[in-house]
Amino acid sequence: MDCKNLPKIELHAHINGCLRRSTLHEFLQEDNKEYQIPAVIGIKEAFEIFSWVHSVMTTKARLQRVVEEILEDFENQNCLYIELRTTPKSTKFMSKQEYLSTIVSVFTSNSRKIKAKLLISINRSQSLEEAWENLHLAQTCEKCVGLDFSGNPMANKFNYYVEVFNEARKSGLKITVHTAEIEDEEDTVDILNFRPDRIGHCNYLSERCENLVKDLRIPMEICPSSNMATIGLGSMVDHHFGKFYGFDHPIAICTDDTLLFDTDISKEYELVANAYSLGDEDLKKIVKNSAEMAFSDEALEGLS
Ligand code: IMP
Repeated sequence: MDCKNLPKIELHAHINGCLRRSTLHEFLQEDNKEYQIPAVIGIKEAFEIFSWVHSVMTTKARLQRVVEEILEDFENQNCLYIELRTTPKSTKFMSKQEYLSTIVSVFTSNSRKIKAKLLISINRSQSLEEAWENLHLAQTCEKCVGLDFSGNPMANKFNYYVEVFNEARKSGLKITVHTAEIEDEEDTVDILNFRPDRIGHCNYLSERCENLVKDLRIPMEICPSSNMATIGLGSMVDHHFGKFYGFDHPIAICTDDTLLFDTDISKEYELVANAYSLGDEDLKKIVKNSAEMAFSDEALEGLS
């Protein structure tokens, strides 16, 4: 099954996880740094790669180039709408505000067919003060439609930041949360009780949490290659997609980090289509579900 021509929607992609490998190597070389992406990637390797990426993503020019290339790459895979997420960073050369305005200016000047919106990430390793700062940045950022909660799942729990997310919700921002990336039922129950607008991954749902997700019908962002790497699955056939697809649960197929998993959104659809023998109409229905799960109406408008 070739999914390149299928018009698609991307809802779960991290900016610094979606650089082109060639661009990362170019930046590393320019900075006289030596690093090779490991062949096998689990959670530990993933966070090691992010720290190398962050070490070179220091200037507005590099950030601008990376965001432009991401839009180009997704458009080349016939992606019509993308929600890109990132944690605002300050470097020697730019403030968090400038980091965001650089991204927004690429989105605004984008003459491509693909429409782009931003989600601001709160990283589990950040302080509460930084989380509040991210919320305030999100509330004033032109292209931002929501907050994401991500980062190393061994770090702080969701409840530590729950007041920030309550406030975000009150101010009209949508919320998506990386959920059950590792076995941690207490954190997962807290997340589900908050009822995020979407949840990502859901690798390790206990039976109780699985029932909660089903009953609350919280839309799920599935990232096949990334999830298989985290869980250590040899085949997509054993992925929880099958179970939730069987329940007719709202699911979006996403990439997460194209750099890490050497993937693109067409390949992620192909993994699912081949494992579950899905046809064109099934895939179109998943794309339509994804558009309905998006945090901006532009996703549905793009499809029609
Ligand atoms: P950035 O926010 O644009 O810098 O994108 C990279 C960041 O996204 C990483 O440092 C992580 O905090 C987060 N991230 C990317 N993939 C994952 C994942 O699979 N689980 C949790 N966090 C992730």
